[in-house]
Amino acid sequence: MNSSGNTKTADANLDTLLRIFTVPEDRNSTLTKIEEGLSKNLNEFLRNHIVTEERPLKEIEQDFLSSHIPEQPEFISDHTQHLLDKVVSQSVHTSSPGFIGHMTSALPYFLMPLSKLMTALNQNLVKIETSKVFTPLERQVLGMLHRLIYQEDDNFYLQRMHSAHHSLGAFCSGGTIANLTALWVARNNVLKAEGQFKGVEQEGLLRAMKHYGYDGLAILVSERGHYSLKKAADLLGIGQEGLISVPTDHNNKIRPDELKATLTRLKQNNIKPFAIIGVAGTTETGSVDPLDEIAEICRQEGCHFHVDAAWGGAALMSKQHQYLLKGIEKADSVTIDAHKQLYLPMGAGMVLFKDADATHVIEHHAQYILREGSKDLGCRTLEGSRSGMAFLLYACMHIISRAGYELLIDESIAKAKYFAELIRSQQDFELITQPELCILTYRYLPESVKDSIKQCPQEKRHAMNEILNELTKYIQKKQRESGKTFVSRTQLNPVELNGMDTIVFRVVLANPLTSKEILHEVLDEQRTIASQAISLINKLKALGS
Ligand SMILES: *Cc1c(COP(=O)(O)O)cnc(C)c1O
Repeated sequence: MNSSGNTKTADANLDTLLRIFTVPEDRNSTLTKIEEGLSKNLNEFLRNHIVTEERPLKEIEQDFLSSHIPEQPEFISDHTQHLLDKVVSQSVHTSSPGFIGHMTSALPYFLMPLSKLMTALNQNLVKIETSKVFTPLERQVLGMLHRLIYQEDDNFYLQRMHSAHHSLGAFCSGGTIANLTALWVARNNVLKAEGQFKGVEQEGLLRAMKHYGYDGLAILVSERGHYSLKKAADLLGIGQEGLISVPTDHNNKIRPDELKATLTRLKQNNIKPFAIIGVAGTTETGSVDPLDEIAEICRQEGCHFHVDAAWGGAALMSKQHQYLLKGIEKADSVTIDAHKQLYLPMGAGMVLFKDADATHVIEHHAQYILREGSKDLGCRTLEGSRSGMAFLLYACMHIISRAGYELLIDESIAKAKYFAELIRSQQDFELITQPELCILTYRYLPESVKDSIKQCPQEKRHAMNEILNELTKYIQKKQRESGKTFVSRTQLNPVELNGMDTIVFRVVLANPLTSKEILHEVLDEQRTIASQAISLINKLKALGS
């Protein structure tokens, strides 16, 4: 029996194999119907095929138990039906306008046929031989993003954008790789060749530390830094403990005084701080660090200044809101994810370098490809084979345009402000973090305890907070399971709440199709679920009285 039960199976012969490479499916096949459904009305197709009711993961796993590679091929149409039944239906409807819990949202329609084209062209950006025009196209897209951040003049870009000896940045699969690439450059620079020493990239970390006489290296970021930075610290040999977390203020922004104190402490211990990261849009709260101040500290300390704008960088598209990221132009490197607020499908990240020579310290060559002096992008990227994702970003830049992105960004921020006001005006909700960009956090707080929790003694307050945390978790889980709307949750330590561990709902308002009505529905649904959590509510009341 094959994986989809007792469906018919095809023979594994070369003729049929050749057919799957050449002959399209017939007009009535399931595959063709899916294709038609997708191109006719994508949103409706997804609405109809993704089942909103939650099936436990344990149960779904039962459909994916066999570890045998099938011996017998299935007919494409049969298998496509299987994919529809078992996979598509149980996937997450990320483009649903009520799905406001994550950074993954709806995609523009035109990207569907263009993605198909991109897949069919199957270019490999590692080298010119397998990408040709895609290489200058990607370099141009990187140039556009570089200019968005650094605002150099025409001449700067004319000389560097297509030069074999420069790169303005690197396209990659996401913010994780982008952050790693930036820190890789920073590490190789601080431990560069000097005298007899050939550089960390040649001799490794141990000899580099001996040569420079350091007892350790450190990267600094606020406590709201993304976990990808820990992976980078680990991979670069600095160790996760070498990623130093700096306290934040009541707005979830890094505290420059704490940053300076940390730097002093590290240096006293002969640990070399070589990179400071400013977060431009933290993953949990969307807060932007004071980039200008960090830039100044980096300048004084001779540190690499990296800005992790994986999520928030797209706000630069908005003339009205770009001031929020002021100081980003002083960064040595910047991470931006196109698969977040630039509305690309998953797998599109970028790192941009202020100095077009910066990537020389991570340059690699190979004889059969990536020869010296070639324009192959693979010489200065961590990843090897890479898809032509930049093609889709290129299309978005033209079809949506800067002005279009500005509207999308402004709209998201306006919607987040609206939602924040809405939450504030409720008797039984509490706004925890004000949106700076389009992320906000809040929680349900029954009216009956709203006043008492502020007035009661510390110990009682803690106990009540614990129950509220339970309640938030309960509501979030039930809401997700009912499948109508979705918000995520995270844990913060708000200064206003004496730094207590506080579980909050987290909302990302990036989907242009999310309406004000939906926002009202989200609160209504949460209120209804809360009213069913009788024992938790009663416990709260008892403590509060
Ligand atoms: C999403 C995100 C990342 C990681 O990016 P991936 O694309 O998930 O690899 C890093 N930093 C921040 C601030 C992010 O929001």
